[in-house]
Amino acid sequence: MSLHSLTLSQAAEAIRKKEISSAEMVDALLARMERVEPKVRAFLHINTDDAREQARRRDSESPQGALHGVPVALKDILSVKGQPCTCASKILKGYVAPYDATVVTRLREAGAVLLGRANMDEFAMGSSTENSAYQATRNPWDLERIPGGSSGGSAAAVAADECLAALGTDTGGSIRQPAALCGCVGLKPTYGRVSRYGLVAFASSLDQIGPLTKTVRDSAILLNVLSGRDPRDSTSLPDPVPDCTQALEKGVKGMKLGLPREYFVKGMDPEVERVVRAAVGEFTKMGAEIVEISLPHTGHAVATYYVIATAEASANLARFDGVRYGFRAKDPTGLLDLYGRTRAEGFGNEVKRRIILGTYVLSSGYYDAYYLRAQKARTLIRRDFEQAFQKCDAILTPTSPTPAFKIGEKTTDPLQMYLADIFTIATNLAGICGISIPCGFAGGANKLPVGLQILGPSLGEEAILRVANAYEQNTGWHKERPQL
Ligand code: GLN
Repeated sequence: MSLHSLTLSQAAEAIRKKEISSAEMVDALLARMERVEPKVRAFLHINTDDAREQARRRDSESPQGALHGVPVALKDILSVKGQPCTCASKILKGYVAPYDATVVTRLREAGAVLLGRANMDEFAMGSSTENSAYQATRNPWDLERIPGGSSGGSAAAVAADECLAALGTDTGGSIRQPAALCGCVGLKPTYGRVSRYGLVAFASSLDQIGPLTKTVRDSAILLNVLSGRDPRDSTSLPDPVPDCTQALEKGVKGMKLGLPREYFVKGMDPEVERVVRAAVGEFTKMGAEIVEISLPHTGHAVATYYVIATAEASANLARFDGVRYGFRAKDPTGLLDLYGRTRAEGFGNEVKRRIILGTYVLSSGYYDAYYLRAQKARTLIRRDFEQAFQKCDAILTPTSPTPAFKIGEKTTDPLQMYLADIFTIATNLAGICGISIPCGFAGGANKLPVGLQILGPSLGEEAILRVANAYEQNTGWHKERPQL
């Protein structure tokens, strides 16, 4: 087996036992990138020399951390000291981050090698990675199709074996949906489980960082590294961090798994429905009990999200004014002209649309009708989940209503694009955790991955990883790789 096909846990073990060196691992991935990156275009920046240097250093140390010498890619929204961080926006062109994000510090402490920066939708706004100001990333399973978004570069890089694992961020589905569409494993931790320090903020009450990996075990290993209280993020949770790999093998016998009535609706791709229902059937065979549940406010989730997320984005993105970061409009005639033209020229259309929407829903006269109402709806959505988790240990749903769509298919219709997140958005509004794992293919001979979403209660990561691992081990879909 070639080195680039290893999983993160296999590579970590091989490096620990000195069967391979970190330098060999990095070289194998750089060679793989050279071959497939012209087709996939997952990366905005590859740390070629720096990654080799990091690997050499790791090879000279005695292995300590769980990720010693293991190369990992980062979504281009996470700060690494001395590296560019564009958020796939023109407005951050030329900006170099002055410090490491906490997740980056934790990766370094665990011994990881930082491989490069993955493409994304501009400021994480989108579901297809087509909103990147720099390039469109392609789905490794079908190069005519999108990889999902906004962490589309991270998902495509993992699926194309260009890295062993990648970090993404999930505000309304941006880890789970691209994982589903690219056939990898994507975990959104409970809000507060992972520090957001050094993550460029989109919607601060919804954003979480999490891993995209080839297997469920790899996801658990990375979650262990990333989780925990950070004094630099006051929303990070003080709760103790369990070793999530311990729960993986416990199986699902006797567990209660909820199927929400509202998530199997008209409009869903029939092949996705067939594949997901078959996955549910597997759980019955493995000894789990399937219970029907209801999440009655599901229908309001997309609207609620697009009020709250845009409101928060309009405030967070006010800092990009041409004075402090990156791009600045040429020859300003005054301060207002500088602000206005920098933002007009620096932001793409989707980002502008969100800033305008968000400013509107927060403006006096409309605040109560939109923002306040959305907050109330959010409470109802959160309560739906609290009640559901009294009846079951985890919830099974499709991750995305359709498999990967064609590049350009939805770019002219923002509402269609927003609906791609219909099954993932409520998770973020409720602050709970979720994972997407491969569960089969749609598209006939043109194999298009389908994702199964497993949702858990607040801090229920061990439960969803256990359910996910039981399914993965029983079925083996994760072993399928795209032909590139
Ligand atoms: N697709 C959703 C949006 O466009 C979610 C994005 C995300 O999770 N970052 O906002």
